[in-house]
Amino acid sequence: MPNNTLPSQNSLTGKNSSEELKIDLVKWASENSSLLEILIDAYCVVDLANNIVAVNTAFTVLCGESDRKIGKNPHFNNFIKTELCPGRCPTIQVITSEKSLRLDEVSATTKLDQNLKLTISGVPVFSDTHELLGCLLTLRDVTAESKLQIKYDEKKNDAITDGLTHLYNKVFTEECLSKLLKGSLRTKKPLTVMMGDIDHFKHVNDTFGHLAGDHVLSSVAHILQETIRDSDIAGRFGGEEFVVILSNTPQAGALIFAERFRKLLESTQITFEGKHIPITISLGTSTFIPESVIQLDNPEEKGKQMVGECDIALYPSKADGRNKTTQFEAIKTEKGIDPTTTKK
Ligand code: GH3
Ligand code: MG
Ligand code: MG
Repeated sequence: MPNNTLPSQNSLTGKNSSEELKIDLVKWASENSSLLEILIDAYCVVDLANNIVAVNTAFTVLCGESDRKIGKNPHFNNFIKTELCPGRCPTIQVITSEKSLRLDEVSATTKLDQNLKLTISGVPVFSDTHELLGCLLTLRDVTAESKLQIKYDEKKNDAITDGLTHLYNKVFTEECLSKLLKGSLRTKKPLTVMMGDIDHFKHVNDTFGHLAGDHVLSSVAHILQETIRDSDIAGRFGGEEFVVILSNTPQAGALIFAERFRKLLESTQITFEGKHIPITISLGTSTFIPESVIQLDNPEEKGKQMVGECDIALYPSKADGRNKTTQFEAIKTEKGIDPTTTKK
């Protein structure tokens, strides 16, 4: 049996000829062969020079070589090369550290496959007198699972993002908003929603063509994504409409952010097929002040209400010549009306 416990000092014999250690390892592997053969995963026993001394059938299947071939030229790297350092060989790590290891999704190549993903577990093997003999490795082929996971992640990403701009889509942005509103209430930090609508975008399509329009949309999205903080969420809400959720942002901060973005866009040269396309955006914001609310019975509704308020705030931005920012709260105080009743 593998002996991984520390022996008492007086049992140490000081055996150190590499041949003797190898003989002990081969003996150990053969004594445990029936036990190791029941492993479904590939295993191999490797000596201190990284030469394989025993394998099971699953190992020969994994690397596409017979036991005879392995026996003739037994260095581990002749059969499986991994991305690991040092020496692209997991056995080196176990042998030098004398500790067990587990590594997930290690990229590996064999004669049969250049793109394997392996989960590798290794334990050092010691003699009865606690001399390190080599190590036992098990290698599980997780390539299929790993590819499935990547596909799943891609699909999951497709379901929440907009294909053209790669911003979040409307449904996901709304979901985030209701969660972040609950967070805002809990942490007592204000949250602002900002809506942007590109000015005269129809004119861009009509003058430069639909492809140019698409290019403008993805450029604006890219600039927006670069301008926000990591904790902010940017989504595409409609054709040329964007919504940004600014966590931990009061009304004054929202105005600073909106104006910075608006001016940045105004001064950015967007070109398509050599033609410069001037772009401006109108913005509307609405800020949630958690102190003014005791509880949020329906955060989804509250989110929708705030987006609606941004839309209302956009109206004066457009009516006042476009390329402007309006805050919903400002309309409320200026006009002394309940702006939720204003129709765009
Ligand atoms: P305003 O300044 O009042 O916002 O005017 P506008 O022209 O931007 O607004 P309007 O709503 O009249 O036009 C929006 C245009 O956006 C019309 C539509 O064809 C275009 N659009 C919507 N989605 C896309 C898209 O994915 N790609 C392109 N190229 N155009 C789009
Ligand atoms: Mg619009
Ligand atoms: Mg527009």
